[in-house]
Amino acid sequence: MEIAFDCTQCGRCCHNLRLTLSVAEARVWAARGHQVDLLAEGWPWPDAEIHPDDAVAQWRLATSFPVTVGDVPFRVNLRLVARHDGACPHLLPDMRCGNYEARPRICGIYPLESRPFEAMEPARRLCPPEAWDAGLPVLERDGVPADAGAAAIVEAHRAAMIADVAVKERLVRAIGWAEMAMAGEGLAVREIAPDALVAALDAVERGCVVEALPWSIVTNRETTRAILAELECPARLVVAGDGFLAAFGDHPSTGSG
Ligand code: SF4
Ligand code: SF4
Repeated sequence: MEIAFDCTQCGRCCHNLRLTLSVAEARVWAARGHQVDLLAEGWPWPDAEIHPDDAVAQWRLATSFPVTVGDVPFRVNLRLVARHDGACPHLLPDMRCGNYEARPRICGIYPLESRPFEAMEPARRLCPPEAWDAGLPVLERDGVPADAGAAAIVEAHRAAMIADVAVKERLVRAIGWAEMAMAGEGLAVREIAPDALVAALDAVERGCVVEALPWSIVTNRETTRAILAELECPARLVVAGDGFLAAFGDHPSTGSG
């Protein structure tokens, strides 16, 4: 199956977004004074071997670091995201990118899918209908980017998500943050001033060792909080908002969400 596409330069993908960055990209973004947020989610991770054929679990393992919540082992996936409300600070009035040569990889990937095991769905992209007209250049063929250059950018982005794990684990220690959401329920958000993020990354690079804080979980679902309490996992009930990006509405009394 082929998906045709050509960018219309509408600029929608450069507004009101969170762009997943590598650590190196986040440092550059923050050093320019732009906002980078930290997003954290985690999975309970019993100390069991993962089947080599379970590619999703292998990917999660490779892109996360281990912690314990109470006595329960978890793995944490931490994302560094450029957040811009309104237009990206690099967007020019004519909707061209003013940072084209140095733009983050994720900008060059869009509207392709950056995550493995997720299909790219045009209906879920911001691009207008005319960007997908049949007869335009082929973007993706059988789930694979048609352009070798684009495929290489996707691969480099994914490789960075793996390579950055150790730095991310030390970064959360350096900034004194140890909260996550349950994966699938939402994302815990830590806003950090750009200069503070650069300073923390500098400290990590210098090898400063900071003891880890005890991890806990934030959730907007009372059912989840109650289950975690039974397991003696520290958990905090929150409402959806800037500090918790929720996949479900607040506080449903049933587990259906
Ligand atoms: S860096 Fe460029 S391509 Fe990326 S969001 Fe900003 S303006 Fe758009
Ligand atoms: S939303 Fe799609 S069509 Fe519009 S500028 Fe971004 S990639 Fe191009």
